[in-house]
Amino acid sequence: MICKHCQTDNPPAVFYCSGCGAPIPKKSNAVAVILLGLVGFAAVAVFVALVTDKPQTAQEAIARATPAPVATEKPQKITLAVYERLEMGMSYSAVVALIGPGREMGRNKAAGYETVLYQWDAGLLASVTLMFQNGKLIQRNQFGLR
Ligand SMILES: [Zn+2]
Repeated sequence: MICKHCQTDNPPAVFYCSGCGAPIPKKSNAVAVILLGLVGFAAVAVFVALVTDKPQTAQEAIARATPAPVATEKPQKITLAVYERLEMGMSYSAVVALIGPGREMGRNKAAGYETVLYQWDAGLLASVTLMFQNGKLIQRNQFGLR
């Protein structure tokens, strides 16, 4: 610990300077300041939490915990009737709106044409395979639909 008054280098544990007798500030002050800062910050955080999070009823707690209902419609079960509504030229998103997202089976890009093949499982041993070119339905196949 270097004395502020006479620059004497004192051993760390002394309370008074060996050169001039002035009191030596404890080295732990810096740590204490940091700790005080942390405690202060925590106190502010707790205060803010208390102010923001007002006491709530059980119903309110449940309402908060329950996610808001999702507005999107549940895709229809893929039946032959639904399959017949899949028209050439439909966009993939329009198809997804009807039967939900498909499983991408392959993708090929050549000469400005992007071809993507999707498959949907439609129950036991039933499936729908659709081919899109540049985002438009160009071919449809189904197996086992009723
Ligand atoms: Zn001194």
